Amino acid sequence: MARATDQTRYIFVTGGVTSSLGKGIISASLAKLLQARCYSVTIQKLDPYINIDPGTLNPYEHGECYVTEDGAETDLDLGHYERFLNVTTSQANNVTTGRIYKAVIEKERRGDYLGETVQVIPHITDEIKHSIKLLGESGQYDFVITEIGGTVGDIESLPYIETIRQLKWEMGSRALVIHLTLVPYLAAAKELKTKPTQHSVKTMLEYGVQPDILVCRTERPLNEHIRSKIALFCNVEATSVIESIDTSSIYKVPILMREEKLDKVVLKKMRMKNFCPADLDSWEKFISRLEHPLKEVSIGLVGKYVELVDSYKSIIESLIHAGTVNDCRVNLKLIHSEQIDLNHSEATFKGLSGILVAPGFGDRGIEGKIAAIHHARTNNIPFLGICLGMQCAVVEFARDVLKMKDAHSTEMNPDTTHPVIDIMEEQKKVTMKGGTMRLGAYPCKIKPGSLASSIYGKKEISERHRHRFEFNNHYLNDFERHGMIATGMNPQANLVEIMELKHHPFFIGVQFHPEYRSTVANPHALFAHFVDAAIQYAER
Ligand code: GLN
Repeated sequence: MARATDQTRYIFVTGGVTSSLGKGIISASLAKLLQARCYSVTIQKLDPYINIDPGTLNPYEHGECYVTEDGAETDLDLGHYERFLNVTTSQANNVTTGRIYKAVIEKERRGDYLGETVQVIPHITDEIKHSIKLLGESGQYDFVITEIGGTVGDIESLPYIETIRQLKWEMGSRALVIHLTLVPYLAAAKELKTKPTQHSVKTMLEYGVQPDILVCRTERPLNEHIRSKIALFCNVEATSVIESIDTSSIYKVPILMREEKLDKVVLKKMRMKNFCPADLDSWEKFISRLEHPLKEVSIGLVGKYVELVDSYKSIIESLIHAGTVNDCRVNLKLIHSEQIDLNHSEATFKGLSGILVAPGFGDRGIEGKIAAIHHARTNNIPFLGICLGMQCAVVEFARDVLKMKDAHSTEMNPDTTHPVIDIMEEQKKVTMKGGTMRLGAYPCKIKPGSLASSIYGKKEISERHRHRFEFNNHYLNDFERHGMIATGMNPQANLVEIMELKHHPFFIGVQFHPEYRSTVANPHALFAHFVDAAIQYAER
């Protein structure tokens, strides 16, 4: 979408009181509303931790690592941005303190600051400013929404809040701050409490930043009295106190924010006039299909991080999108691969009409994943394997059909006599862990007449990647002779991207991550067909 105005405006979203208030969803919802009013918008996440990117973080810590087209390993909030806006993001959309300091230290070593003492203010704050303005300076956007990770008052957040203070001063009405807080309900007092919000705004004021708009997360509606009380204590207009009430689906938040007039308040405060009406028709249609499914289907998601749904965020959202395409509610059963009884796994999969084996690293729970695949393959249950899930499907087939008893990926067993999955040639010399996998979008050629070809309806596709290991082509003939065929190949590297079974209603493993590409406006065909296959299985 081309930009509608001649100046980029900057909106900052901060959070107070606690984490997990849904800053990412509020940012994405506001962006959606502005986009629906014909503005071009991008969202950026600034994360105050020292890791250069979340690629080296355990998913237990920060949820899934989301991979962009350009191969950046980023915060999972970028997934929400893309799913809501249907616009791709890039490395510039996620910056961490580690990246900021690295840039400053590299400049210092180069001599760029020769003679100066390098300090948090102005050098670190200038670098943060540079990262924020970079997106605006591309000339593509009317609005850059910058979400600051963490909670105000955290030591790590300080340089970011200071940068916002400077930018507000510099940009006047072209910059605006939305602060998210919690308004808890105390059952004993039967009351919503505003004090945490007051304190949180006080903390912002100590740093010199007056929030323009307060978005209050709450379990119960905010009445006029509460709104004016918050307004009075926090120096904002009552119309700038926005209720963000708990809801059954994140996809309803843009609608709720429109009802609360968040977008209109923003536009008014930024002195923007004559904006077009917010067209959310297709979004509303999506929600209506989501809320009124005509059928239901149960799908098992097998992984080792299932205690924390954030670890598989994009897969779970992709299945929701795919459900709406099929007017179907997908009941997801999260199955811990370590807890699968390898000898009696049937009970675990009872009632499931589809099995998805998740991406992952390392050998923990690997035999459970292989058992799940064996069950899907031998019982004609629709199967989708993603990255490690595809690699496990290859291992299962080698062991059970090709009778290579110790077949494995060399990631799990470097001494296997049948390394059906092996490290990629270019990865052999890699010693550093951060940002060194095969990352981002690569093309894949699809074999005509295959399941993949009927799903994609194209000869060539592009999907995003994040891996070090690959199918060992040395074994390809053997696999294909026995009915597991490579139906997707990277044309340059001859790397197997898709494996599928000939004699199975729906059995497909992909080396790439289709989940990073599914959006509300564009649900991913692979998930949509997988859910469809599961529905057909259930009907049989
Ligand atoms: N661990 C496997 C590899 O590196 C799979 C990675 C993944 O599932 N993202 O190739």
